Amino acid sequence: MDILKKVRPNILKLQAYSSARDEFEGTGDVFLDANENPFQNGLNRYPDPYQRELKNRISTLKNKPADQIFLGNGSDEAIDLIIRIFCEPGKDNLIISDPSYGMYQVSAAINNVGVQKVALTEDFEFKAADMLQQADQNTKIAFICSPNNPSGNAFDVKEIEQVIQNFDGIVVIDEAYSDFSSLPSFLPQLNTYKNLVVLQTFSKAWGLAGVRLGMAFSSSEIIALMNKVKPPYNINSLTQVEALKVLADPAKVQQEIRNILEERGALEADLAQLNLVEKVFPSEANFLLVKFQNAQPLFEYLISKNIIIRNRTNVMHGRNCLRITIGTREENKALLAAIKEFEA
Ligand SMILES: *Cc1c(COP(=O)(O)O)cnc(C)c1O
Repeated sequence: MDILKKVRPNILKLQAYSSARDEFEGTGDVFLDANENPFQNGLNRYPDPYQRELKNRISTLKNKPADQIFLGNGSDEAIDLIIRIFCEPGKDNLIISDPSYGMYQVSAAINNVGVQKVALTEDFEFKAADMLQQADQNTKIAFICSPNNPSGNAFDVKEIEQVIQNFDGIVVIDEAYSDFSSLPSFLPQLNTYKNLVVLQTFSKAWGLAGVRLGMAFSSSEIIALMNKVKPPYNINSLTQVEALKVLADPAKVQQEIRNILEERGALEADLAQLNLVEKVFPSEANFLLVKFQNAQPLFEYLISKNIIIRNRTNVMHGRNCLRITIGTREENKALLAAIKEFEA
């Protein structure tokens, strides 16, 4: 597939903004090129627009060259940029599963880009044929979230591959929860498929939701387009420093992931015992989707006990479903105790 033929003509023609830090990237002693305040306070200089140090670290960790990595102000920035690069407002559309992560649809709507929704099965399984069948000649991007939010299950790898191989456009696989999954990431497939984008984030397993840092991995062609369209200094200095700090100790994060997975297993087993639980959906993420006999009163009761979970009763196939993030041992115990209190 010729990726450049899929790009909006105005983006292809676009001359990127050239910042002071773009035009000079060597070492200097006296920097009088960016109209910064010269008095040092640790933050008086603009950040590196391409986050080289951070990308080099991520490159080693993920075994992908730096020119195949984009960093965004959250994955949400990457989602928005990909839509803006490939979808002509008022004409093109993208295709998503239903239910799925809400930002694809919101970002599309902001950009006046259409959305085609393809229902998952009642068990939240993904069928490639259903998605491929619904795509039309103006469908430029397919978003596939696996493990899926809000259902928590990971999709069949073969089904996802079928879309990558047969969809005539860009396929974005959102792996925000892959650190919690027993299934492999799609990162290795980037060598095979030029139309593939893999999204990951520092917001979940890495414990940095507050810094806003998302990663996109793709062919160097697509990454170059994202760099061209992004705001010049999209990742601030503080974020880059904090990310380097957690990356210096990945073993700590691995330990936290193991802890969360153990807690997920325990909570899943405990919930399944309760009379008012109809089903705990299998999860490859750090949350459980749980179907109750009657979700709304329980949801409200938990709020009255200052325990906040997510009501998903209005999403496709989500009738009476609540989404519960895995917390610490103590938090999960408090949740269970409150549900039992409600049940009594
Ligand atoms: C939480 C989440 C993200 C993360 O978004 P950030 O902007 O990186 O915080 C991305 N995709 C899905 C499906 C998510 O649930």
